[in-house]
Amino acid sequence: MIECSVFASVDLCPESAVVLLPFKQDKDSPIALFQEPSLLASCNVLVRSQDFVGKLGDTILLYPEQGPRLLVVGLGEEIAADVIRDGYARAVALLVKRDISSIAFFPPKADEERVRWALEGIYLGAYQFTQYKTESVKKGIERIFCLTEDSALFSRVEQKVSSVMNAVYLARDLVNRNADEVSAQGFSEIAASLDNGALRVQVHGKDWIEQERMHLLLAVGKGAVNEPRFIIAEWKGAPKDEDLTVLIGKGVTFDSGGLNLKSSSNMEGQKGDMAGAAAVLAVMQAIRDLQLPINVTAAIPLCENSIDAKSYKPGDVYISRSGRTVEILSTDAEGRLILADAIDYVRERLNPSRIIDVATLTGSAEVALGKDISALFSNDDLLSNHLQEAGIRAGELMWPMPLYYPYAQLLDSEIADCKNVATSVGGAINAALYLHKYVGDISWAHLDIAGPADMQKPFRYYGIGATGVPVRTLVEYLAR
Ligand code: ZN
Ligand code: ZN
Repeated sequence: MIECSVFASVDLCPESAVVLLPFKQDKDSPIALFQEPSLLASCNVLVRSQDFVGKLGDTILLYPEQGPRLLVVGLGEEIAADVIRDGYARAVALLVKRDISSIAFFPPKADEERVRWALEGIYLGAYQFTQYKTESVKKGIERIFCLTEDSALFSRVEQKVSSVMNAVYLARDLVNRNADEVSAQGFSEIAASLDNGALRVQVHGKDWIEQERMHLLLAVGKGAVNEPRFIIAEWKGAPKDEDLTVLIGKGVTFDSGGLNLKSSSNMEGQKGDMAGAAAVLAVMQAIRDLQLPINVTAAIPLCENSIDAKSYKPGDVYISRSGRTVEILSTDAEGRLILADAIDYVRERLNPSRIIDVATLTGSAEVALGKDISALFSNDDLLSNHLQEAGIRAGELMWPMPLYYPYAQLLDSEIADCKNVATSVGGAINAALYLHKYVGDISWAHLDIAGPADMQKPFRYYGIGATGVPVRTLVEYLAR
């Protein structure tokens, strides 16, 4: 937990680093900021020297004779949400490296958006996953001070941002932790701990899954010692309203590929194959903390795709909850199977106004759009546009991809109603078309987050490991 507070003068936080982020063309900063008396002298020297003109990426750490350290980070020409987030995240990374644990910042004027972006940047830059480290652990950012006259505005924004960012942290931790800890059972225990009466979390075991005829979820989990679970988390923030958004998250707690075993390099990182489930659960926590006046239910199928004599087998036919039979051509295309049973359950039992599923589903999505953009499929243009806009506001890009129906026939099977994979090209589209078979005419969006769910190298304001995508987008979308 990071502590946030408003402060009246930089002299009150001598241990901090005060961060200034000037834009080249911004009249509000740095000149206005440099009026703070105790910073003025240092800043005047810096500005006069012309060593610093506010170029993107310019960073100078100053040690004035008195008062706190001063970190100046240039942002370039354009005032944009992600530039500000990125600037603060970079500032934070530099401070963490030097073991400086408190950061003070000046939002330019009483600008709610800019305070928000700054705080998001600080939280994004401050995330560390240190659970398994015993040596050279940095303490990280513990306190944020905001120098502002409008403490009411700051508190309001801070409360919102911290609720969302704590949820992002939850999603990132769930993905980064060991697969054997965040098993179907381990994940369920964490989910159950979020139940506070208003957010109701039910965890269902194997018997219930059998009663519900989720044979595809059972098939995928057959080879694992850890039994599958199915979580339903309900938030009724608008009890008189019939509108209901259902979020579904793919929760494969480890994906070995099954009998169609992945190669060693492809298996690395597969503890993160539950990133969709983690994101959906985290969104429920944020909705609870923000007390959003909407109805949202999360449905999370959880299992492990493992190898064993009992594992489900390529070439065999399984019957889905919907009654549709599926020829399994690859046991590594398991995510769509468990999602199919979850979608069918949601469609039949919950009467949703719309369904949004989130899944690390296909390598093809990553090949098409790279590490930083999610693939967005939808049968509803309005829903698709709203999600895309929310993604832009949150700084988590998602790009609309086609549900090109002629490709659906590639999923036809000679011996069953359909097969679970088609050609190797267009894999993200084929997977989306497979899911679409179970949706019916309900408004639906599918987010393939195989690229952005985690980073193998630090990128933008993300370090190595889980990113928490698309928690911020979904909260942004639902809050509107
Ligand atoms: Zn797989
Ligand atoms: Zn998978």
